[in-house]
Amino acid sequence: MIPSINSKLPQVGTTIFTVMSGLATEHQAINLGQGFPDFPMNQDLLNLVSDVMHKGYNQYVPMQGYMPLREALAEKVSFLYGTTISPDSQITITPGGTYAIYTALTTILQPGDEVIVFEPAYDSYIPNVEINGAVAVRVNLEFPSYKINWDEVRRVITKKTRAIIINSPHNPTGAVLNELDIQQLRSCVEGTNIFIISDEVYEHLIFDGILHQSILKYPDLLERAFVCFSFGKVYNCTGWKLGYCISAPETMKEFRKVHQFNCFCCHTPSQVALASFLKERDEYLELGSFMQQKRDYFIDLMRATRFELLNSSGSYFITATYNKISEEGDKDFAIRMTKEIGVATIPVSAFYKDGTDNKVIRFCFAKKEGTIKAAVERLATI
Ligand code: PMP
Ligand code: GLN
Repeated sequence: MIPSINSKLPQVGTTIFTVMSGLATEHQAINLGQGFPDFPMNQDLLNLVSDVMHKGYNQYVPMQGYMPLREALAEKVSFLYGTTISPDSQITITPGGTYAIYTALTTILQPGDEVIVFEPAYDSYIPNVEINGAVAVRVNLEFPSYKINWDEVRRVITKKTRAIIINSPHNPTGAVLNELDIQQLRSCVEGTNIFIISDEVYEHLIFDGILHQSILKYPDLLERAFVCFSFGKVYNCTGWKLGYCISAPETMKEFRKVHQFNCFCCHTPSQVALASFLKERDEYLELGSFMQQKRDYFIDLMRATRFELLNSSGSYFITATYNKISEEGDKDFAIRMTKEIGVATIPVSAFYKDGTDNKVIRFCFAKKEGTIKAAVERLATI
């Protein structure tokens, strides 16, 4: 007899990213779906990794991460946000941002706890909550501004609320939180037992001169937060799957208890290389304007199509409605576009647990100009 599994995630299928990228490959479509750059990463960083491998940095680093990298990160946090972080007790290097979020949730959640999640939500959040036996309390971002309705947040907070997950700049919409949002967040959590999980993987991918509202800027909020980052997004190497989490010493101690028996420690050569490469501040300071040019190039070309773009102030992404083109649901439409015109996108209904379909699709513009141009030429034919 083959043993059967009582599924931990009975309602979950294969992620939309894998589905749409698979379909793009199958139909040789231009992939503006899954978020990854198609241009090369920095050559100096590549050479550094190769050098340190040849120099022998190929064995385990400490479970918390390579200390010089944690020190460089603490310096970066102090430079960017004016907050002093202990590299020893407050930073842990993780295999990507997704893992950092999962570990933070696993660290704090007990069965029956509630976690407030804003939808559309990056697709790992709700499964990460549910696999821990907790309940995701879903709050819709207002459509089409994708702003948070804080009155609604106050309405759903209960004694069981254990965390609120925020994500700015936001995937899939490109919406960003402002200072007023932070004040509202503070008023919701002050004096409660609620943690903040802040997904800041698009920290530097923010446009139009807007300042990123990192939780790291606010010591009173950092006390109750796990702030999660991804090197993949900063250095155009999403396949490296390397990130980090910052938290208060006490909470980081618990985070590490979970981390040490799951991953233990991350890829050594990339940590050693990044420890010195992080000192090149322009590499991350110029990323926002570099990606903004791509967003603007995409927006400009899209005028020739019948799609109506919504606002994007950050991330790799911009969303669009297609009411003038079709009445199909967004999944059907995205699949048909991939097959018939050869452009893959992501249907935004995949980011709602109940499949709410506002007929919106997500484009990734973190691509070479040639890729964007070729894709939009195809999009103009529909
Ligand atoms: N959060 C969001 C919102 C993301 O878009 C991504 C990108 N995949 C991640 C987390 C995770 O990044 P990583 O690949 O480092 O796990
Ligand atoms: N973050 C990327 C996106 O939103 C991809 C992540 C993934 O493939 N899991 O497209």
